[in-house]
Amino acid sequence: MPRLFYSLFILIVIGIIGAFSALFWNLEQTLPTLKYNDFLTSLDNNDIAAVHLKGGNITLTDTANRKFSTFSPDVTSLLPKLLTKKVTITAENDKPSPFFNILTITLPIVILFFILLFSLAKKQQQTDDDNSDFTKNKVIHYGKGINPITFDDVAGIPEAKEELREIVNFLKNPRKFSRLGAIIPKGVLLQGPPGTGKTLLAKAIAGESKVPFFNFSGSDFVEMFVGVGASRVRDIFREAKKQTPCIVFIDEIDAVGARRGAAGGVGGQDERGQTLNALLVEMDGFSHDETIIVLAATNRPDILDPALRRPGRFDRLISILPPDVKGRLKILKVHTKRVTISDKLDLKDVAQNTPGFTGAELANLVNEAALIAARENKAAIEQDDFNEAKDRIMIGIERKGMVISKDDRRTMAFHEAGHAIVAKALPEADPIQKITIVPRGRAMGHTQQQPLSDRHAYTKQYLQNRITIFMGGRAAEEIGLNQQTTGAEDDLVRAMQIATKMVCQWGMNDVVGPLAYAKASEGFLGDDLNQTLYSESTARHIDMEVRKLVENCYAEAREILTREKHFLGHLAEILLQTETLDNEEMEIIADCSAKKQHDLEKDTESPPQQHECMTCPAAAHCTNMNLEST
Ligand code: ADP
Ligand code: ZN
Repeated sequence: MPRLFYSLFILIVIGIIGAFSALFWNLEQTLPTLKYNDFLTSLDNNDIAAVHLKGGNITLTDTANRKFSTFSPDVTSLLPKLLTKKVTITAENDKPSPFFNILTITLPIVILFFILLFSLAKKQQQTDDDNSDFTKNKVIHYGKGINPITFDDVAGIPEAKEELREIVNFLKNPRKFSRLGAIIPKGVLLQGPPGTGKTLLAKAIAGESKVPFFNFSGSDFVEMFVGVGASRVRDIFREAKKQTPCIVFIDEIDAVGARRGAAGGVGGQDERGQTLNALLVEMDGFSHDETIIVLAATNRPDILDPALRRPGRFDRLISILPPDVKGRLKILKVHTKRVTISDKLDLKDVAQNTPGFTGAELANLVNEAALIAARENKAAIEQDDFNEAKDRIMIGIERKGMVISKDDRRTMAFHEAGHAIVAKALPEADPIQKITIVPRGRAMGHTQQQPLSDRHAYTKQYLQNRITIFMGGRAAEEIGLNQQTTGAEDDLVRAMQIATKMVCQWGMNDVVGPLAYAKASEGFLGDDLNQTLYSESTARHIDMEVRKLVENCYAEAREILTREKHFLGHLAEILLQTETLDNEEMEIIADCSAKKQHDLEKDTESPPQQHECMTCPAAAHCTNMNLEST
């Protein structure tokens, strides 16, 4: 088709040029020119046989039958002369012929029209090529030299796996289902936070059933030109129908499937609308026994266009959440298969220490740990490497190069010791896992608590304790060093957040009552849509109660630290030397301090300023600790 256009175009252009040149050739024959004076002289001498007039242009033939051309400035006065000399006169209208007129007007239009048509055809051809390449490049044929991903590679999400097994059975043996008239879903929507294994699961289905796997992302369809996305969608399904049974996977479907007017859309509304429509039309278009399964993944199910979820489209919804401890252990087992881990390493500990980690983060953790172990030329990955890797992922890389003044380090030591001591003193708080004054990422120091289990509901007491622990940093600086610093900023912000939520959202305040004033944030991305829907007097109550809550917690932190002042000083000193302490070491220091305190209360000798562990039963541990880390 475009080739035809092309030849036609060329033909027409050649034709037009030919016509033109013929026309001009006729008009402007290249004759030798004669000066007008000479012409008049020749006329007087009776040398001119004939003239042809066209306006002022004169073509003349002399008696020797030679032809010349010349131009007359005044034809009217020339004519009588010609007549008296009996010259043969012919003449022609000097206005161009009507044919010529039409040609000059229509020709440019015709040429333009053809150029336009031609370039459009070319563009269409290009997008057609692009699109078929686009589809062909994104299909994976498992079982042709590629190691298929199977359900064994996906761990920790048993429910989702169970549901999708049915689809695998269907793809493997569609006849078994269609024989009984059973209808298998065409579309399955996988929803869950990023990194929970949605893509992996989709690939595993293809790997298990050994069918072609078309892998796209929603952003593949979002292009500058309106209509490209839609044509790609059509192309995909055209190709997919040739290769049934097969799986079409669209990751991040929210890029095209977002509700009109919803956030998260790139590209024009028109383009997205067209692409979405094309997708819906295609999904409605193939029949249930065509064995194409369309899988889509999103982490924003809330913004999807409701049309996508109608029966016959993505009517099957599978939610995937970050794994729990058991799930994490299984995922760790899958990913540690590729690496060498020490016999002493207990993966259960690692799983326990990584609440909230998704599959992708766990995979990353194993890889980081392997990198760290390799850097230190270890034979196998040890527990330390996992700890280091976790810190790195959660808080950022150790800022070893940063220079910290002595005073700052002291402030940090007291601050972190304060968090730790308050946490240790409170009954329902998570146990301390690690205290450190090595700055990482944005945080200067860090006190890490290990949750006993994945929590889904928090008690009021637990939340209050969290606020108290946050306030412990500031309180310790005041009690130990008699100062307030900016280092408490993050603590104060987070304490305030919890307190506000307790009062306005979780109904945990007696004065305000069991009312939720703030709208809970929607979606996994947690865009807070806190709308104030309460009166001014309620606002005042809320402000007052939040304030009271935080102040009470602060007072409690101060009280604990005043009581444990000796422990605080001791812990801070040791932190300054060792930089990092774990729970066990902290227990030893606590015992040591309690003993010292007891001794102090007996005799009134002035307390020694420096490290005091030498005299206590835990001295061996304390000194060992110091030696190890210096
Ligand atoms: P999503 O599509 O949900 O964002 P992916 O499927 O792309 O997440 O996961 C990224 C990587 O994380 C996978 O390639 C895999 O290595 C790892 N991963 C995620 N979830 C799991 C899981 N349940 N089991 C094993 N590995 C997982
Ligand atoms: Zn702090």
